[in-house]
Amino acid sequence: MKLLKFYQDRGLKIVKGEGQYVWDINGTKYLDMHAGHGVAFLGHRNKTVIEYLTKQLNQIVTLSPAFDTPIREEMIKELDRVKPDNLDNAFLLNSGSEAVELALKIVRKVTKRKKIIAFKNSFHGRTVGALSVTWNKKYREPFEPLLTPVEFLEYNNLDLLKQINEEVAGVIVEPIQGEGGVIPAKQEFMKSLREITQKTGSLLIIDEVQTGFGRTGKIWAYQHFGIQPDILTAGKAIGGGFPVSVVFLPEWISEALEEGDHGSTYGGNPLAAAAVTASCKVLVNENVPYQAEEKGRLFMKLLEEKLRDFKSVREIRGLGLMIGIDLRFNPSQAIKVIQDEKVLSLKAGISTIRFLPPYLITQADMEWASDAARKGISETESKRVTS
Ligand SMILES: *Cc1c(COP(=O)(O)O)cnc(C)c1O
Repeated sequence: MKLLKFYQDRGLKIVKGEGQYVWDINGTKYLDMHAGHGVAFLGHRNKTVIEYLTKQLNQIVTLSPAFDTPIREEMIKELDRVKPDNLDNAFLLNSGSEAVELALKIVRKVTKRKKIIAFKNSFHGRTVGALSVTWNKKYREPFEPLLTPVEFLEYNNLDLLKQINEEVAGVIVEPIQGEGGVIPAKQEFMKSLREITQKTGSLLIIDEVQTGFGRTGKIWAYQHFGIQPDILTAGKAIGGGFPVSVVFLPEWISEALEEGDHGSTYGGNPLAAAAVTASCKVLVNENVPYQAEEKGRLFMKLLEEKLRDFKSVREIRGLGLMIGIDLRFNPSQAIKVIQDEKVLSLKAGISTIRFLPPYLITQADMEWASDAARKGISETESKRVTS
């Protein structure tokens, strides 16, 4: 038996995670700013999450959404404290892609239109619907024809938004493009997008699978823009490490949906409900968004100080604890050197080193990571000069 090689091997065997650190099989400690693509935002094995999961394991593990159970009631109460404004309905699924799939189905059903607008550099997942609104041709082309019609507009280009018309069922957008290179949306772009979709009766799906749940300094990144989504998708951090995703909807959309429109065997199972309940408690009680904002600001400043003399650093950008260092070359070699310095990071787009640390990082961790980045970039730069 072998596992499919869909991911490049990072050459580490990890045996344990705690907070912002992981350990390999030799006992070497790593600062984890990869965090499973941002999933471990509340820290590995967050105490409250483990407590809730353990308690739930000892009660009931699996139960169809057709039956009620106390942990789901508790989860609903907790979700009420973190939910996007006016989006009072939720449906639970197991992955970000599945949340996107449901959002795409909903905009078609509710508007009775077909066309979807997405943006260049977007990433929304790998299942067929989600892949149809994902920009990278390498991911998409071998599997075409996918969902149609889908049109990709340039991100942050206000002029092109004029192309959104009464044929458009929905527009899907990331408030900060994650996989595409840590690219924040412009204020005017998001505002204009909201206005135009409102005018044409197209639904605005904000995909917060990566940006959501506190990472950018607010519970939801759309809150930086003074607008409201019609539908919001969340995933990654929302289960504190447990695989779960959520689609949030307003009452009027949920009323247009009926029994049988969607379903999921595992969606919202008792363990997922326990994980979400605990994660919401941590998010609110520990004031996680505030900490992400403060630490993000310090980390960004430190990176700017330590990296400003490099010609190959084009830009350091991001929001809260979603940070990208955009280089003038492929970042893979630098990411390798950073890993040799015992810091885990990941690539975004074609030229960006991405840091998605847990909110627990300390000043010392930030120094450690920025020194590692300095070394990674300087070694790659000098190799390129001499070769
Ligand atoms: C990761 C991601 C997804 C896909 O989530 P999966 O859990 O991998 O299916 C969708 N949208 C965005 C913005 C993401 O970052």
